[in-house]
Amino acid sequence: MKNRLSIEAYVEGVLAGNRLLLSRAITLIESQLPSDRVLAQLVLEQLLPHTGSAIRIGITGVPGVGKSTFIEAFGKELTATGKKLAVLAIDPTSQRSKGSIMGDKTRMEELSHDPLAYIRPSPSGGSLGGVANKTRETMLLCEAAGFEIIVIETVGVGQSETVVKGMVDFFLLLMLAGAGDELQGIKKGIMEMADAVVITKADGANQAAAQRAVAEYQNAFHLFPSHENGWLPPVLTCSAVEKKGLSEIWSQITLFDSQAKAGGFHLKNRQQQNLEWMHTLIRQTLEERFYHHPQIREKLHDIERLVQNEKWLPLRAATFLLDLFRQ
Ligand code: GDP
Repeated sequence: MKNRLSIEAYVEGVLAGNRLLLSRAITLIESQLPSDRVLAQLVLEQLLPHTGSAIRIGITGVPGVGKSTFIEAFGKELTATGKKLAVLAIDPTSQRSKGSIMGDKTRMEELSHDPLAYIRPSPSGGSLGGVANKTRETMLLCEAAGFEIIVIETVGVGQSETVVKGMVDFFLLLMLAGAGDELQGIKKGIMEMADAVVITKADGANQAAAQRAVAEYQNAFHLFPSHENGWLPPVLTCSAVEKKGLSEIWSQITLFDSQAKAGGFHLKNRQQQNLEWMHTLIRQTLEERFYHHPQIREKLHDIERLVQNEKWLPLRAATFLLDLFRQ
């Protein structure tokens, strides 16, 4: 990276809440250059004692459900009470399709000009795992910069929900009131991850359908195994356009947070997330080293052909390649 700063400059800048330096520190973290990675880790290590106190909220929902409109209205409501909020958006589609579900339109226009808010899209390059790691580290930087609420937004179309669930305290699922078969559209697994469901666009002619959807989701939640911490996910409605239902959602999040802290679940969850993160990093690093190993690169294609043509069993091929890797 050009014009790289010293570790101290990054650390002091972030701790002072300097947005320019926060952005530069995030760019450093997103850099693929090995020398930047080393510097980024050193910066992060120094900032680590200043992280962890924010409420981390994951927000997901299919494109068009109203995520950006909701986050804007919700965010404005929080900043109006003096809270500092950072919004990080993971867009898993931008890599594959070269277009972006999230990025094309001007999103959260008002919030992006709010001095108490900071909005940052996560990089679209690299694997989902890689993107998510940068998001996690970006979240820590934002916490060190004094942001008290971190919102991580993800499009509810891929595996990104699981990854985001692994880095937040509270997971909010936004849903549209549909024509009866709401549960069809969203995977049951995502419902099970949710700490609350919010039916969006509960205004005008949509209100009755929204109320019906609330009843359906409430019933659905009773069928799921109860949360480890005894929390029964509430089903709420909101209208981001009319700014209705937003404070109720915030109340539920703070209630969850205080219960989770009092009951020890908060700490346990964060500890578990850290362990999982470590194992993910180990897996990723090993995989990367494996596929970059000179001999693997040389032989992989031939061995793949042998497996495809059923000359070798996959187990034999895997064992052979792993032996090569270990040499
Ligand atoms: P995203 O793709 O999930 O980020 O969805 P957007 O926030 O871009 O919203 C998709 C569409 O729904 C836009 O046309 C919004 O104007 C509309 N929308 C979002 N929130 C509301 C709401 O509370 N009420 C109504 N009536 N429309 C909404």
